[in-house]
Amino acid sequence: MSTETVKRVLVIEDEPDMVRGLRDAMVFEGYEVTAALTGQEGISLAREGDHHLILLDLMLPDVNGYQVCEEIRSFDTFVPIIILTARGQEADKIRGLEVGADDYVTKPFSIGELLARIKAIFRRLDRTAVEAPAQLVVGAAVIDLRKHELTHNRRTVTLSFYEVELLRLLSERAHEVVSRDEILEKVWGLEASPTNRTVDNFIVKLRRKIEEDTKAPRHILTIYGQGYKLIP
Ligand code: CA
Repeated sequence: MSTETVKRVLVIEDEPDMVRGLRDAMVFEGYEVTAALTGQEGISLAREGDHHLILLDLMLPDVNGYQVCEEIRSFDTFVPIIILTARGQEADKIRGLEVGADDYVTKPFSIGELLARIKAIFRRLDRTAVEAPAQLVVGAAVIDLRKHELTHNRRTVTLSFYEVELLRLLSERAHEVVSRDEILEKVWGLEASPTNRTVDNFIVKLRRKIEEDTKAPRHILTIYGQGYKLIP
């Protein structure tokens, strides 16, 4: 992906006014926007693929947003998915993360704030395309940052955008403690991000892919009350 690539965003949202607002704002930024008004349509469009980002409403007329997210993750593990939700409940946010969403924005939100978040994602997508190193090694796991693939015990899995970014940050700071707040700021690009649980949730996912024994991690360590530390 070169820096010249026009960024394509898929919006899965049934409220026409919201779709219009999002579309206008993103087209103004030079992005290509495709909108799906139902969950099923969203899943098909995601399957046809090649979006750089998906914005997904939780309350859809046909399939609920969690199922849509899960379904999309079954064929695309990398694409960043931001959930748009009217619900501010912690449980809903955690559930969204569990089914594979990367981040969420609670309605009503400011378009400016959402755009800032989107820009941060695209900046990092472009950087990944050109920046070295292209590979990280953590324990017995080898991570190809450009293909977003992790190979461990002869098994290769695709990582999500935020998993790659989180690993990159921890490895740039290997052997140092990195606080959750710093992770949120640098990886999610936010001061008051979703929740600290977001970070914990992604750490759990990474441990499953990297550690031999997730109950006794040797590479991604929790430093109680301080944050996380990567020992490559
Ligand atoms: Ca809705």
